[in-house]
Amino acid sequence: MKININNLKLTILVTGGAGFIGSAVVRHLINDTEHSVINVDKLTYAGNLESLKTVNDSARYTFEQVDICDAAEIKRVLNQHQPDIIMHLAAESHVDRSIDGPGEFIQTNIVGTFTLLEQARAYWLQLDGDKKANFRFHHISTDEVYGDLPHPDEVDNLQFYDLPLFTENTAYAPSSPYSASKAGSDHLVRAWQRTYGLPTLVTNCSNNYGPYHFPEKLIPLVILNALEGKSLPVYGKGNQIRDWLYVEDHARALVLVATQGVVGQTYNIGGHNEKQNIEVVQTICKILDDVKPKSKSYAEQITYVKDRPGHDMRYAIDACKIQKELGWTPQETFESGIRKTVQWYLDNQAWCKHVQDGSYQRERLGS
Ligand code: NAD
Repeated sequence: MKININNLKLTILVTGGAGFIGSAVVRHLINDTEHSVINVDKLTYAGNLESLKTVNDSARYTFEQVDICDAAEIKRVLNQHQPDIIMHLAAESHVDRSIDGPGEFIQTNIVGTFTLLEQARAYWLQLDGDKKANFRFHHISTDEVYGDLPHPDEVDNLQFYDLPLFTENTAYAPSSPYSASKAGSDHLVRAWQRTYGLPTLVTNCSNNYGPYHFPEKLIPLVILNALEGKSLPVYGKGNQIRDWLYVEDHARALVLVATQGVVGQTYNIGGHNEKQNIEVVQTICKILDDVKPKSKSYAEQITYVKDRPGHDMRYAIDACKIQKELGWTPQETFESGIRKTVQWYLDNQAWCKHVQDGSYQRERLGS
């Protein structure tokens, strides 16, 4: 049975709500709907309460600093707040960190998801009536679980538009400890649906970009390094292709799937914005040359560095299913989204400083 989002005021528990995408989901839920949010976040280096400053005072927003691997605390939070939906975003998410230290990725992404599933199942089993029938567990995942796709440079006689895309039926072939740990968590979620009947949904999304992105990922790193006069590191030849989606478009898609998606289904989410990494870096340099010009072009700061081991060459999502079945389409083009993003980083230097040194967090938590 579908939940009619327009008639209900739901309680939605969001894990990882202080992260990049999670905070966009929380801001969207508080600003654009009447639902209430319980944000469950451990506050690792990637979680920042300053990203939620604009919703912090809402009576519909509650923060719980909890590790998803802590079964007793998850049980307490579920029983105390009685959520209608769980949207599970908490994860270790940076591929380079997963190569340097995979242990945390196995712990949070696999053991943490297992712990959350078990506690969600126990909570769901003791619900009754509509509350039980309408309960949803929405697992948020990545297109990186599918491995990589043929790159136009490697395929003879193929036009760009002939190249394959990831669909919901593409076989899993993860390449990095990060994507393998996310693949493991996706399998657990589907098994909990099949074996125990837990009403789950899975989404797999392409690369996100936009405001409040921790400055270790390509786009914010390039913007901030450019502004500080530092080098702009590009892996290998910079020809790896990613399919970019503006984070607020992803947040809208996620809330739509969580509230309107069909139980047991997977939805791929993507922006149809395939770009080589070098094109992305050059675009950022051009926008900066335009809005914050200096004597030389920012592009002169680009440097090519040794490629990442196991680096996937191309990701691209077929997002037809979510468009056709749920009516979602992205509102931003890459050109409009990247311009907004560059401007946001120019206007929010204080956020960047605070997340890098953790000062806002310490102030909020009184330590
Ligand atoms: P992020 O690294 O910015 O945020 C992760 C959040 O999870 C942080 O707030 C962190 O404090 C929290 N967290 C980490 N471990 C935790 C634990 N053990 N218990 C509770 N909270 C914990 O990540 P993101 O980029 O916002 O990604 C969110 C989700 O979306 C992830 O599951 C990721 O795999 C997926 N995803 C990301 C992208 C992308 O481009 N960033 C694309 C597709 C899917």
